[in-house]
Amino acid sequence: MSSAADRGWGSGWPNAQTDKIVTVVCGANGLRLPVRTEIGPLVAALVHDLERARGAPFRPDWSWGFANRAIRGTSTPSNHSWGLAIDLDAPDNAMQGPPPPGRNTMPRSAGKIAARYGFRWGGAYTSRPDPMHFEYIGTPADAEGLAPVLDGQENEEMLRKGDDGPDVKTLQRNLNAFHRGDPKLKVDGGFGHLTESSTAAAKRKLGLGRGGRTASVEFQLRLIQVLGQRHVREVAKRLRSRDVSEEDIDRAVDEALGDLRIE
Ligand SMILES: [Zn+2]
Repeated sequence: MSSAADRGWGSGWPNAQTDKIVTVVCGANGLRLPVRTEIGPLVAALVHDLERARGAPFRPDWSWGFANRAIRGTSTPSNHSWGLAIDLDAPDNAMQGPPPPGRNTMPRSAGKIAARYGFRWGGAYTSRPDPMHFEYIGTPADAEGLAPVLDGQENEEMLRKGDDGPDVKTLQRNLNAFHRGDPKLKVDGGFGHLTESSTAAAKRKLGLGRGGRTASVEFQLRLIQVLGQRHVREVAKRLRSRDVSEEDIDRAVDEALGDLRIE
């Protein structure tokens, strides 16, 4: 991995360029993250997508960005000293021993979401996973080139009565699973009256608003997440009733989680 200086970002620690740092306010809780101006919009999009995928906002007092320092225990400048790295919910996502990564509160898709905006996720490090840490690995020109990606996300998709197509089919399948087939929707890809009332009922059960009748992306992701957790609990329960080791259970649970697609 080349250093940020090699990629055209100038000097980091100890001669950090503090005049090029801006504070980005982002996330549902209004995190204040000082980062390099050029990647400000990317950081905001990254935080937004991570929060959506894990179904919970990050804590402002547990999250930070720019810091004029070296990598702990070395004299190599940290990417934080360029304003190219952020740490999110640090206490819940501390640096760990050798892989596989242990407990953390990042979504399963953290690495994939990070890559979307040119970041690398510390939780995927092969030596010592650092799940709180996300660092930008592109050049200044790369950051500029990603601007159109952000523009494309302006209009969030929402399914509503009268819509039809494969996305509605997926929604209907998930609603049927969520309500355990009572009532059972016909999976026909047409968002009609029953799909609407089933959506509203699911939202009420999930405590999302007062049961609005449209299916936002957030709602659909939450639905998938709940189904996933249920699925994993069932797999674990089935295995515990047989004579298998805890390791086997962990592996099966990991496989079950691997099957889930939150994104
Ligand atoms: Zn960090």
